[in-house]
Amino acid sequence: MQGDVIVVGSGPAGIVVALELANAGHEVILVESGGLRFSGHSQYLGDTPYFDPRVHAAMSQCTRRQIGGTSTIWGGRCVPYDPLDFDERPYISDSSWPVSYQEIAKYFQRACDWFLCGDAEFDIRNIPEVTQKSIVPQLPDGEILTSRLERWSLPTKFGQEYLRELNSCTRIKVVHGLTCTEIECDDSGRRVTGILAKTLGRKRVRLKSRAYVLACGGLETTRLLMASDRKHVGGIGNHSGLLGKFYMGHISGRIAKARFGTPPKQTIYGFDRDAKGIYLRRRFSFAREFHHEKRLPNIVGWLANPDIYDPAHGSGVLSFAYLMLTSPVVGKFLASEAIRAAARGGLSRRIVFPHVVNMLRDMPSTLFFISNFGYRRFISRRKIPGFFVYSKSNVYPLHYHGEQMPNRDSRVSLAEDCDVLGLRKLKIDLRYTARDIDGVIRAHQYWDEYLRKHSCGYLEYIASDLQASVWEQAADGFHQIGTTRMSEYPDSGVVGKHCNVHGFDDLFIASSSVFVTSGQANSTFTIVAFALRLADYLRSVVLQK
Ligand SMILES: Cc1cc2nc3c(=O)[nH]c(=O)nc-3n(C[C@H](O)[C@H](O)[C@H](O)COP(=O)(O)OP(=O)(O)OC[C@H]3O[C@@H](n4cnc5c(N)ncnc54)[C@H](O)[C@@H]3O)c2cc1C
Repeated sequence: MQGDVIVVGSGPAGIVVALELANAGHEVILVESGGLRFSGHSQYLGDTPYFDPRVHAAMSQCTRRQIGGTSTIWGGRCVPYDPLDFDERPYISDSSWPVSYQEIAKYFQRACDWFLCGDAEFDIRNIPEVTQKSIVPQLPDGEILTSRLERWSLPTKFGQEYLRELNSCTRIKVVHGLTCTEIECDDSGRRVTGILAKTLGRKRVRLKSRAYVLACGGLETTRLLMASDRKHVGGIGNHSGLLGKFYMGHISGRIAKARFGTPPKQTIYGFDRDAKGIYLRRRFSFAREFHHEKRLPNIVGWLANPDIYDPAHGSGVLSFAYLMLTSPVVGKFLASEAIRAAARGGLSRRIVFPHVVNMLRDMPSTLFFISNFGYRRFISRRKIPGFFVYSKSNVYPLHYHGEQMPNRDSRVSLAEDCDVLGLRKLKIDLRYTARDIDGVIRAHQYWDEYLRKHSCGYLEYIASDLQASVWEQAADGFHQIGTTRMSEYPDSGVVGKHCNVHGFDDLFIASSSVFVTSGQANSTFTIVAFALRLADYLRSVVLQK
């Protein structure tokens, strides 16, 4: 098969690159390992037994092999990286990006258009229709901010949303059920001669084009490069010995509750909506200068519900949600396995009776919730992303989501055994460090001081041993960052600033694996911003030659 460009992987990154290039007049082949619908046979190709379940989710929970990729099961939260992430931060080693924030920020509006999440405005102060600008009254923006926003997409499942456009575009050939197993190079080892791909029935296909874009997701892209090791020790892109290293996700969890002393009814604990009806959510964050002054990693916090599995919350709504999400019959139709696992809270037995009592005691609000939320979540096209319950006592758990700092010992590598197509399985070794833990604890200390300084409340710690609690909750797998890191020069990374594998001018990566740092943001919005930038570069430079 031949085209101008071959894009491997049809998640958000692959679909955006493919459609952008095809719409600019180029012939594109979009190759996807999975099918139009979910199939266990394809999904199994990405499975590996080599990971520690205490710190990493199973690949079957954190990826999806089908057209649309993992966006088929994602939550839809859209958050860009911050200017801080691209700053020089000598206090965080190996954190230097070869591109600036401005170079990426100019793609944010186009990214919003792809996600269908409205305007690229992430500051509540610039959204006139929302009148209360701070999370609680009298809490100004200063070293701590509460004006920064996340936006929510439909949630936009890229396969479903863009399939018609993919199928109707004559310049795109979508080939599904075909898994790329090796990138082949010429004798110089600096030019790709083709990509070898196989069907589940082991039929072999060689794909050829002028340029190749790997968009297989953070870990599978790295795996494919590592497995292409005929001419390159450790795989294509391993010239610096860094392929697979610096694996990062995020550090998240709860160690405290925010107890506000302000009027309870004026606490913004749930979603706002802008004039276009897009769901927005506020978060506690820090000013850029404050981060630098305190040498603090990037981290945010947002107000959350009490743990829904614990009936002590007394809320009929939360109890109803718990019973539904943990139901063996309906649970799987309501939310992804990851969300259902969180709802179970690690308990081995499902609690039923006390939750039913909560629902009976709280019947009017439970019934109102069922009809109102049910419609907004399951019938309307723009789905409400979740629900939050009001706290009369004005106390809310604070959920943190922070940067995991670059660490070359945190890595993935190839195991000896292979999947059914002969591709070696991944060994995953995601490692947090004491510095990640310290960042979380200090952030809480600063949030607490700020609330007290403005007489708005304070933080109440849930955990008695903060260090132990943050360590225990540190786990990811859903955001797969850093294993093909970007660098100015080949000796310190895998790809250059145009996402080309160093030494190649026909092999590119569209994935969060190229990110140098993990920031506080969930990755997908910035993945798409980079995918748009790559499409522009391919169109205006590579395919012009
Ligand atoms: C439960 C859950 C909730 C999430 N919620 C959010 C959220 O709210 N916000 C956010 O920003 N992120 C979220 N994420 C993460 C988000 O889904 C990913 O960041 C995003 O999908 C990555 O896009 P991608 O295109 O890089 O890769 P993917 O979406 O993973 O797509 C990669 C594609 O490549 C294909 N592929 C892999 N290997 C090969 C091969 N060898 N040959 C051919 N094809 C191949 C795969 O089948 C897949 O279709 C969530 C993830 C999960 C699991």
